[in-house]
Formats: sequence, C-alpha cells, structure tokens
Amino acid sequence: MDSDKAKDFLRQIVADDLAAGKMPAPVTRFPPEPNGYLHIGHAKSICLNFGIAEDFAGACHMRFDDTNPHAEDQEYVDSILADVRWLGFQWQGPVRYASDYFDRLYTAAERLIELDLAYVCDLDAETMRAYRGTLTEAGRESPGRQRSRADNLALFRRMRAGEFADGTYTLRARIDMGAANINLRDPVLYRIRHVAHHQTGARWCIYPSYDFTHPLSDAFEGITHSLCTLEFEDHRPLYDWLLAALQVAQPPRQYEFARLNLTYTLTSKRKLRHLVEGGFVAGWDDPRMPTLAGIRRRGIPAAALRQFCQRIGVTRADSLVDVSMLDFCVREHLEQSAPRTMAVLRPLRVRIHNLPAAVDIDAPLHPQHPEWGQRRLRLSADLWIDRDDFSAHPPKGWKRLVPGGEVRLRHAFILRCDHVDYDDQGQACLVHASVDLATLGAHPEGRKVKGVIHWVDAVEARPARVRLYDRLFRSAAPEAGGEDFTEHLNPHSLQEVDAMIEPYLLQLQSEQAVQFEREGYFVADRHLWQTQAPVFNRIIALRDSWGKEET
Ligand code: ATP
Ligand code: MG
Repeated sequence: MDSDKAKDFLRQIVADDLAAGKMPAPVTRFPPEPNGYLHIGHAKSICLNFGIAEDFAGACHMRFDDTNPHAEDQEYVDSILADVRWLGFQWQGPVRYASDYFDRLYTAAERLIELDLAYVCDLDAETMRAYRGTLTEAGRESPGRQRSRADNLALFRRMRAGEFADGTYTLRARIDMGAANINLRDPVLYRIRHVAHHQTGARWCIYPSYDFTHPLSDAFEGITHSLCTLEFEDHRPLYDWLLAALQVAQPPRQYEFARLNLTYTLTSKRKLRHLVEGGFVAGWDDPRMPTLAGIRRRGIPAAALRQFCQRIGVTRADSLVDVSMLDFCVREHLEQSAPRTMAVLRPLRVRIHNLPAAVDIDAPLHPQHPEWGQRRLRLSADLWIDRDDFSAHPPKGWKRLVPGGEVRLRHAFILRCDHVDYDDQGQACLVHASVDLATLGAHPEGRKVKGVIHWVDAVEARPARVRLYDRLFRSAAPEAGGEDFTEHLNPHSLQEVDAMIEPYLLQLQSEQAVQFEREGYFVADRHLWQTQAPVFNRIIALRDSWGKEET
C-alpha cells in the first residue's frame, strides 16, 4: 500500500504487524449471519475487510456465521453473496460457512471437557440468567460444575445424540462466575436445538454459540486480524481465553471499530425485516431501503458507495454520519459518470407552427466527455415540455416559458409561446409556438434568452413510468421514539408519474445511470425494465439549479 495514503488505525496495526514480521500478509474475513439482507452498515465492514486484504496483498474470506438456524435462510445466503460481488469484491477461496466446522467445533468442545474447561449445565435459561449475577454482584456456580469429566463427556455425547429436549442442557465453559466481565461467567458453548439447518440439514441437534464459533472459525482459517464492531469488545477476553485454552498456535487477534450509523436511516437487519414483513416497503430491495439490494436497485453505483465508505473512514469512536454525505458521494460520482438525456416528467404539449421540416440534432452525451459521442434527437412540429416550465402567471424572477415569452429548447432553437389553449379546468393543454430558425446552435443577435428548458419530440418519445423517491423516514433519528420507528415513515417517499422519454433511453445497458437534464439522476429499474412501459427510478435529484450551461 502507498506509504503516503492516510492509514486508519486498523491499517496502521496491520502495517506494524507486517513490519514486525508477525505474518507475511493479513488474512481477514467478512462474517455475516444469513438472517437478513445486508445494509449500508455492512458495506463499511465489507470495504474494510476486503480493502485491507487488497491494500496489503493479503486475502479476505467470505464466511457465513450460520450457527442460529432458526432465523437463517438460503435466500439470505444468496442475496449476501450477490451484494458482496456487486460492491466489487471477490473473496479468496470457496464460500465458507461456520457450519463447515461443526465437526471440528464439536471435537474442540470435547477437548475442553477433557481439559476440565467445560461442563454440562442443567439449569434452564431463566435460572441460568438468575445465577449469572449483575455488574455489581458476582454470579453463582451451576451445580453442573461439580460433575466429573467422564459424566460431562457422556452427557454431552447424549446431547449430540438427540436424547434431550431443547433447553434441558447446555455446554458451558468453566471460567469464573466471579469475573467482572459477565461474558467470562461460564458462557454457553452449545445449546440443544432440534431444528434443521440450511447447510447441514438434520445432522445436528446441538448448535455452537457465536462466542464459541467465531474465534475457532477464525483460527481454523488462519485469520490474522478479526475485525468486528465495538459491541464485541467485551467478548474479546473470551475470544482470547478460548484460543489459549485450546492452545492455538499463532492465534488470530480481534480488533473493534465503530459501527456506521446514518441519519434518516435504520441499520439493523431486524428492523429492516419489520419494514418488509409489515408491508411498509415493497421488499428487501425496495429502492428506498438502505439494504445493498435496495441501494443497487435505486441506481447508486457501487463505486459511489465504496467512495462513501472511504470518506467516512474507520475509527473507534461511535458517531452518526449525516446521510447528505452519501448524497454528496453519489452526486459527485454521477456528475462524471452519467450520460445526459432528456425526459419530460409532467408532459405538456407544444406545437411549433413555423418549422418547415423535422430536424435531426446530435447532442453530446456528456459536456465534459466528447469522446462518449452523441445521440441523435429529432425535433418535429410536436413536442412535450414539462408542465412546470410553463406559467401563465409567473412568479417574480421566472425564467421559463410564459405567454408571449421566449426560452431556449435545450440543444435546439429558441422557442416563442404565441398562444395557449386551456382545458375546462383552466389548465394549459396546448402551447402554440414558433421557433427562431436562425438559433439552432447559435445565439440570437441583440437579445438575451435566459431560460433553457428540456423537451422531447412527440413523435419519437416513448412513455415511461418514473418513480420519484424521497427519504424513507422524515425524521433524522427514526429510532429516537423507541420501537415504533414506523411512525416516522415519510408518507411522500414514493411518487409515481407518467413521463415521456427520449428513445436513446431504451437502449441503455442495464444499471447504467443517466441524468435526465434538469431533473436528476435516474436508472431503469432492474426488475421492471423489460415490461411494456419501462420504469425509471430517481436515484437522486440534482442539487445545482439548472441554466448555467447554454447550448
Ligand atoms: P444487524 O444488527 O443489522 O443484524 P449484525 O452485526 O448482527 O447486524 P452480522 O451479519 O453479524 O450483522 O454482521 C456482519 C459483519 O458486519 C459483522 O462483522 C458486523 O460487525 C458488521 N456490521 C454490521 N452492522 C454494521 C454497521 N452498522 N457498521 C459497520 N459494520 C457493521
Ligand atoms: Mg449479528
């Protein structure tokens, strides 16, 4: 990695370890639990783990932490893999599962029993909790602690054989019921659960705990730096205890960093599931969702999200990132990468009465990228403009079309509104106009035309549905009121309009974001693209007001 690149504290640790010759290269892992879709918080962890591997020529493993079969599902496994690939990362070796290690974990558990470092406990969950003590009070020892090694081993084997009901026995580490750190008060290593597993089927009826599985999986894989979020800091002594108890040579080390929290955004799989299951959104990949699947469908390019993760950096201080930082990264990226196109979202018909024949206009796809080429626009006597670009009673400072006034049609002529037909409700329904034929790509002599408006030709335009998204929550801290974050949902987070689009937009590569000039950045919906009328999602509105660049 470039020595001049600013290093976060974790990259500094890795660099120091390499300099000290502790390992030839770092091995990290991304270890999601397949119990929901990944969200933007996970993007931070993915960029960190895969990014460190990339920067230091190491490796990053993709490992599912699948020890809790109740909540897990193959659907989540598939979506997580697709999301990591979409974000632009490739794991080293096969996709790994903690469940691949169930045999080795079981053997390690027996080993702990043989070492007198684990025992079978017969307390039920509630009693165990009562025995655990509090922050100020030591815990009490389980009667199982007195059992002999041989009895523990026999009981544990019977647990595995399926002889006992859920909740009757657990396997616990024998550490210290008086430890100040509650995680060290004889934590549970195995529970009985008669439930099938998405990877191992019906083979197991006892499942290892996260705390037991994680350090050992890291050790089995030769992970060097096990990066996790701060809530695991208090588990680190247990992580180290287990590796020491099992005499792991070159044990992995755990390091913690702060979670990503974002304003206006939920970053908890459980809460996002509530939105999906409660029907508050259209699914996990609803373009308003902060899931990676939702972000992708919304049209945010993976590169913009990676840029965001780099900007926010990695520290140990809990913080709340302003979602406008994400918006900034998205706009910055799209400004450079999105071809310019035209679409009219609230169509109003215009008829030009003095155009002798239709004209073809070659308009550049990007003002700063002439090498991208041009697309051809046709302008005939009938066109659509946006209803909001016309006003019969304009407010002060209005620069768009008014009866008797002039505007420039983007890439084309200066157009003058000669008269207007209104419908029964008094709404303009047809603008009769004429163009100054000398102004195609040229400025008129002696007069200033301030406004520039976009348009599409009525003959060649195609209809499309356009979905205008806004923030899913109207409050910056949707969780502030406790559980009922659904009360903070923004009722206007989705608005759908019938638009007319230029034909070039039907030839886009899938997931190519474009700018609809003066409207914002849009993408054809991944799932609704091939239907009769295409659907476009608004990725984000333009921040800057239009009109600075003339034709
Ligand atoms: P959730 O609370 O949404 O269920 P989790 O931490 O339980 O999240 P995991 O599937 O266990 O989800 O997470 C996989 C990895 O992603 C873990 O290393 C976890 O620390 C990290 N991670 C999860 N949420 C965030 C976040 N908001 N910011 C940074 N990293 C995160
Ligand atoms: Mg978790």
